[in-house]
Amino acid sequence: KLSAGTAHEILNPLNIISMQAQIMEMDWGLEPDRQKAITNILTQVERIKKIADGLRTFSREYKLKGEAIVNLNDVIEESLNLIEHDLKLNNIEIIKNFIPGLPTIIADKGQLIQVILNIMMNAQDAMPEGGKLTIKSRLSKKGERDTIELEFSDTGTGIPSDVLPNIFDPFFTTKPEDKGTGLGLSICYGIVERMGGKIYAESTNGEGSTFTLELPAP
Ligand code: ADP
Repeated sequence: KLSAGTAHEILNPLNIISMQAQIMEMDWGLEPDRQKAITNILTQVERIKKIADGLRTFSREYKLKGEAIVNLNDVIEESLNLIEHDLKLNNIEIIKNFIPGLPTIIADKGQLIQVILNIMMNAQDAMPEGGKLTIKSRLSKKGERDTIELEFSDTGTGIPSDVLPNIFDPFFTTKPEDKGTGLGLSICYGIVERMGGKIYAESTNGEGSTFTLELPAP
């Protein structure tokens, strides 16, 4: 609640700052130095907005009305549609290994897409020179329960073992300031946890990383 409230309180004055800066930016008579300062203000405002939006998502209550019957193979395909072009431009080969006839689950598709996109965008960041992204879906038994497992493996930089325990922490990032907020995986963690599932990562530094989602099947 505190983070949702704070984010909201920050976004209101921020919008005013942003509007004022945009009005000043439209003043063609500005000297280059001032123009540069305003561009800088707007860039930083965007960054604060991104963080505040992330905080709002992080704290959002699970909304039942967003739920529907979903097939996770289709959700992966839908997520891929949004990012496939980018991945290919970055020389990333996508290898799919989906189990057919995966049982459907009841879930918020938008949130699932958010989780999957986040994992794939991180994989893309970890493979600046290109590489392979292997996506698998399978069904397994965890105790008495059927569990759907989705696995995303990249051939990127990998995650050093001293970094690995921190990656799901809010605001933990190893990316440059203008690239990462460190909120992505903590949001994913919250979403998956609320679905009664699990998300975890394994990695061999220098060889790549695997992120696994485990979701309870009905
Ligand atoms: P952000 O992407 O803004 O840094 P995330 O919470 O999504 O925030 O990720 C946190 C950190 O986890 C990243 O900064 C990076 O160090 C690490 N990470 C996540 N996914 C991968 C990956 N596929 N390969 C290597 N490192 C990763």
